[in-house]
Amino acid sequence: MARKFFVGGNWKCNGTTEEVKKIITTLNEAEVPSQDVVEVVVSPPFVFLTFVKSLLRSDFHVAAQNCWVRKGGAFTGEISAEMLVNLSIPWVIIGHSERRALLNESNEFVGDKVAYALSQGLKVIACIGETLEERESGSTMAVVAAQTKAVAGKVTNWDNVVLAYEPVWAIGTGKVATPAQAQEVHCELRKWLHENVGGDIAASTRIIYGGSVNGANCKELAAQPDVDGFLVGGASLKPEFVDIIKAAM
Ligand code: PEP
Repeated sequence: MARKFFVGGNWKCNGTTEEVKKIITTLNEAEVPSQDVVEVVVSPPFVFLTFVKSLLRSDFHVAAQNCWVRKGGAFTGEISAEMLVNLSIPWVIIGHSERRALLNESNEFVGDKVAYALSQGLKVIACIGETLEERESGSTMAVVAAQTKAVAGKVTNWDNVVLAYEPVWAIGTGKVATPAQAQEVHCELRKWLHENVGGDIAASTRIIYGGSVNGANCKELAAQPDVDGFLVGGASLKPEFVDIIKAAM
């Protein structure tokens, strides 16, 4: 089953109004494959979501970087899934390793967030990935399987989920996984989906790679059979993000 290439840009906690305008101008002027070939989603900080949505070309979409685990209310500083839906923001990133590590988001909490976001009609980019210590101790698959299980248990419609494999040791470090390392984990994850969720879901679910992807390394990674796109951090703030979108071709 053909899986449409997916490229997400995670801007993290970066940007001023002027910088945002500059990035959007670059994206809007870029010649990239049509949305039948590649799905592009950019994820600015909350405060810029509507601004970006109002300026961004209509064939690219917008994602929030997080949302609250349940219905909004007395949760100071949080943003609810309902609010994102109300603003017509279609996507949300959940379980990014920075939040798992810095804000102690557990597998269970991430799973609950995925459940609530999906229940409200959002589409989810669910992030998983092992630390260097976990990789070196040989527990990569056990770690990512446990993270995936916590998410998979809460998914009712896999059409609305993209799985982002992001080894923590590769995020923001400039130390990208080799194409073989990425392919190995993506292939294992697809096997896991096949055995634990179902063959059709395994065949159709996009598994994207994140971790120091840039304009120079994206082609080789994109050529791997189980790499269905990217979640890009640092390079999504730069013009080379356009080259990464073109890696689909
Ligand atoms: C990310 O934050 O999801 C990410 C992959 O970052 P970077 O591309 O900067 O490694």
